[in-house]
Amino acid sequence: MRRPKLGQHFLRDSSVSFRIVDAAKIDSSSQVLEIGPGKGALTFEILKRAKKTWAVEKDNRLAARFKESVLDSSRLEVFNEDFLNFDLGTLGQGPFIVLSNLPYAVGIPILQKLLDWPVWTRGVFMLQKEVAERLVATQGTDYGILSLSVFLRAEAELLFEVSPSSFSPAPKVSSAVVRLIPRKSSLLQKSEEDIFYRLIKAAFSQRRKMALGLIAKNLGLSRLEMERYFANLNIHPQSRAEDILPESYLKLARALSDL
Ligand code: SAM
Repeated sequence: MRRPKLGQHFLRDSSVSFRIVDAAKIDSSSQVLEIGPGKGALTFEILKRAKKTWAVEKDNRLAARFKESVLDSSRLEVFNEDFLNFDLGTLGQGPFIVLSNLPYAVGIPILQKLLDWPVWTRGVFMLQKEVAERLVATQGTDYGILSLSVFLRAEAELLFEVSPSSFSPAPKVSSAVVRLIPRKSSLLQKSEEDIFYRLIKAAFSQRRKMALGLIAKNLGLSRLEMERYFANLNIHPQSRAEDILPESYLKLARALSDL
């Protein structure tokens, strides 16, 4: 029986599994974490290449089936747990490569947990196409708080789309594969990060309005003062949130954290 809340759309097109695993650039020295191995569409491809793989599967029945099939536990360890509650400390020392055909309902919280875990060097993830486009956007209608939260921690790249017919059962929407490379050092200090989130939340709270007024109001500054910040950073004063590039939000956060 399929459990809808667990996003169980299993990949049935082996050429897609191959492309996803290939994009992770795994070699015989790689340590890999897979979230939601399901029936193993990616896992078996990973096992051909990696030194060691850890797989975290929430579904008791699938995890049990997987555990039974493990022939060499020094190369594959299966944990029957919800990844959102999983203690990543269990995995020991990295670095890790992360792969997942993400359960769509919890894809974003899973990525957020990963982005706060500085022990992986590369990740390849399948998500709904619409979410994947938001993750990688740097301007325009798909661009928003999600894109900027990811940008702060990682470089994101959209690799390819996957049609519903590649899954069993077929989902209602198309999917896409993204690669994330976590940044080695933070782009902002902690205090600057707090301001960054405040200002992007304010700017995107009303996408059709000009960002300058929304940010000024949220930070308790006058329009005139905020115009000066925008001018110093060469940001057009009439920009809407979706017209301001990620680098400009970073610069604004740095400048405004001195307040
Ligand atoms: N990797 C398999 C594939 O590509 O065919 C399965 C992908 S399926 C979209 C998502 C998998 O994640 C399912 O096996 C599901 O049971 C598992 N899952 C769902 N929520 C989870 C969670 N919170 N933690 C770990 N695994 C989860």
